[in-house]
Amino acid sequence: MGPRVVLAVFLAFLALGPAILPEFYVTLLNYIGLYGLVALGLVLLTGVGGLTSFGQAAFVGVGAYTTAYLTTTQDLPAALALFGSSPWLALAAGLLVTAAVAWLLGAVTLRLSGHYLPLGTIAWGISLYFLFGNLGFLGGYTGITGVPALSLFGFELADTHHFYYLIWAALLGAIWLTGNLLDSREGRAIRALKGGTIMAESMGVDTARSKMVVFVIAALYACVSGWLYAHLQRFVNPTPFGLQIGIEYLFMAVIGGAAHVWGAVVGASLVTLLKQWLQDWLPEVLGTTGNFEIIVFGLLMIFVLHRARDGLWPLLAKLVPEGAGERTAVPAAEPLSRRAPAPAGTVLLEAVDVVKEFGGLVANDRMSITVKAGEIMALIGPNGAGKSTMFNLVSGVTEPTSGEVRYCGERIDGLEARRIAQRGMGRTFQHVRLLPAMSVLENVAIGAHLRGRRGVAAAVLHAERAEEARLLAEAARQIERVGLAEHMFAQAGSLALGKQRIVEIARALAGDPNLLLLDEPAAGLRYLEKQALAELLRKLRGEGMGILLVEHDMDFVMGLADRVAVMEFGQKIAEGVPEEVQNDPGVIEAYLGGVD
Ligand code: ADP
Ligand code: MG
Repeated sequence: MGPRVVLAVFLAFLALGPAILPEFYVTLLNYIGLYGLVALGLVLLTGVGGLTSFGQAAFVGVGAYTTAYLTTTQDLPAALALFGSSPWLALAAGLLVTAAVAWLLGAVTLRLSGHYLPLGTIAWGISLYFLFGNLGFLGGYTGITGVPALSLFGFELADTHHFYYLIWAALLGAIWLTGNLLDSREGRAIRALKGGTIMAESMGVDTARSKMVVFVIAALYACVSGWLYAHLQRFVNPTPFGLQIGIEYLFMAVIGGAAHVWGAVVGASLVTLLKQWLQDWLPEVLGTTGNFEIIVFGLLMIFVLHRARDGLWPLLAKLVPEGAGERTAVPAAEPLSRRAPAPAGTVLLEAVDVVKEFGGLVANDRMSITVKAGEIMALIGPNGAGKSTMFNLVSGVTEPTSGEVRYCGERIDGLEARRIAQRGMGRTFQHVRLLPAMSVLENVAIGAHLRGRRGVAAAVLHAERAEEARLLAEAARQIERVGLAEHMFAQAGSLALGKQRIVEIARALAGDPNLLLLDEPAAGLRYLEKQALAELLRKLRGEGMGILLVEHDMDFVMGLADRVAVMEFGQKIAEGVPEEVQNDPGVIEAYLGGVD
């Protein structure tokens, strides 16, 4: 049975559910659908984007309260009267309110890193909960009753069965949209967040924007869930929108499989059914009542997290042969337009008297360096000399303490890394920064981020397929160019470290750079692979690219570079053609430790 058959069977089961299942289970499935929608947002936010939120229940509350208030208040202010005239217009209002609230909360919390972000979400999760309970016009802690039933095309959705189809249509629709988003340029930018902002920004991704996108989308899903809930229950009070439920939503996403859209359904089902069964069975087993089910539930959650760190979905997916529709070919597409190449000999990069201090440590001390189009400039020096720091200053990862960096004659020091990438500088990292669970193809496609234009709206509807095909074809072309065609569809993390460095070169090339910064690209390569790399770099130089290379392997550098600069203790101690530098007594002393 292939994945498509499994999906068809599941959909058929869902379609027949109300006809074959007892009423009680239809109700449970309604709740699973409502929870699944919130958990899906968390899959995107937490599982894919790496941003943990405990506060999703509050957004469910925003959706529920907006519609409850608008559809039950008799004398709405004139400006709101239209939104109150139909639950569907109230949904639109809810989505607007949620987007605005999420944007505001996101603006203040998404900047927080590490454990401060989850703490921030707890803070506003609690605040919104108490806000619902304390606002008089929202009915205080008793809430709002008399929320009208939904009707669709004049047909009233009065019972559980009708709602069942609406809820599951919403959830499946959201799964489809989310799947589309993840399989797009915007989706790769979101997935790149997990590789750290330094990598993503260096590839041209506006990480603050990508974080906001997933944050708002997750909040909108929660809002839809709240809207459905309000019209299903026909009343709202603050209880279901508190922190404890927020934690449960997070459980669902993590247990189900935090990085997989279907994990949301698995997690919501598991948590909902388990709680229900424990509530029914435990009193029989233990012969007493009490909140034992919460304790057993907690223990089971810990057990699952122990046994399946990536959640249950990956385990379930393994039961289905031939993967989950993985890509095995890249169709040809019209090539992307290219940047105008700089004429050979143009000064591309010019760093003048750059200083970088880390506290008392001067990692770069009045370093000056130039790289021209069509040359390979090597930067060598012992470990800790300050080479990688120099790379980071030049590529916008850090700002120099003083000094100037110019690219094609324009000041770039102080610019964000993505703005520098946009001007045509591509880089790799000494410590490989790939997304190990993503394919080599997708990793390299991240490098082409700035060569696409289509945004989130096009991505969720898959209206950007033509551009996407061109981006993937470009990524494939670069992978072939660096000689890794046979690994194109492999997970990047499965490659040997040396090969992963080459993937990084392909990713940098996918941005169509004029200047390439390579931080120890030959480390971990075997002799023949080094030869192939040197051949590639010569070819790139021949095409007019400027290359700044940090390398330890002297033979590799000396046979390849046009010019060499030598660093020691943050300073440049020599510069010249390889022969000059090789025979410089100072360099022999410093770099080779005085050994001839
Ligand atoms: P290289 O790449 O030549 O081996 P680096 O540029 O990585 O050297 O490091 C130069 C010096 O700066 C080292 O002493 C290193 O410990 C220090 N250094 C690098 N990055 C930082 C940082 N973010 N904070 C503090 N010290 C740093
Ligand atoms: Mg280094």
